[in-house]
Amino acid sequence: MSRYDGRVVIVTGAARGIGAATAKRFASEGADVAVLDLDEGAATETATGLGAGRAIGLGCDVSDAAAVERAVTRVVEELGKVDVLVNNAGITRDNLLFKMTEEDWDLVMGVHLKGAFLMSREVQKHMVQARYGKILNLSSVSALGNRGQANYAAAKMGIQGFTRTLAIELGPMGINVNAIAPGFIVTEMTDATARRLKVEPEQLRQMNADANPVRRVGHPEDIAAAAAFLCSDEASYVTGQTLYVDGGAKI
Ligand code: NAP
Repeated sequence: MSRYDGRVVIVTGAARGIGAATAKRFASEGADVAVLDLDEGAATETATGLGAGRAIGLGCDVSDAAAVERAVTRVVEELGKVDVLVNNAGITRDNLLFKMTEEDWDLVMGVHLKGAFLMSREVQKHMVQARYGKILNLSSVSALGNRGQANYAAAKMGIQGFTRTLAIELGPMGINVNAIAPGFIVTEMTDATARRLKVEPEQLRQMNADANPVRRVGHPEDIAAAAAFLCSDEASYVTGQTLYVDGGAKI
């Protein structure tokens, strides 16, 4: 008997990176998993590669209310219900304040904050009816402030307030809501940061590892492991929390 036997999990932005590792972890623990991402082909490819349980890949821009409604409806039609939602989809549009465009501000808010809002509002209909659910939101150590990320930091701290509020509202309905704030995790997102800073990805990883108390960078599997705990019934008395998974480095 595995922890997620009979559970249905949605992970957004799960074609690659932290989302893909999280989807794989839930599948390995018995869940049926819906992989949502912008590109349905990429989402389906990841879903096919999960290697356990039933898995589907769906194209869904989480900042688009109609697309979110369609995707959640398809998950319920094809997998029967929704027990767990991981709001993982994310983008960066980094720049110093004086160079940050309104479009880049809106894009970042749209994916992280509006996306988490739309997805959570849609799945809670099913979770409230079932009197059971787990929602996990991806924040970041950047919520504490990071040069060049005014939009992203604001969104990621917003996610923490959103998490606490949903925990208060949905707790009486049997729904736990938590957040994970990852530190530096090796993905396409941090490789893109390296390119923007004009350093090799490997060099940026080494710099972060050297500055980290545990002397290494994080990997998507580190976040997946924390997600698998926070969304489990073992964590049923944990709600409204943001767990920093960062090797101890708040940078
Ligand atoms: P990633 O490798 O860039 O993957 C993000 C995924 O989200 C991509 O597949 C991307 O699709 C998808 N996506 C983007 N916009 C979307 C939208 N509107 N709707 C649906 N999917 C969308 O990023 P990651 O590093 O795995 O990050 C995952 C989450 O962790 C994000 O919320 C990020 O902010 C957070 N985080 C990451 C780190 C880190 O160090 N990596 C640290 C702290 C927090 P496309 O490829 O088509 O764009």
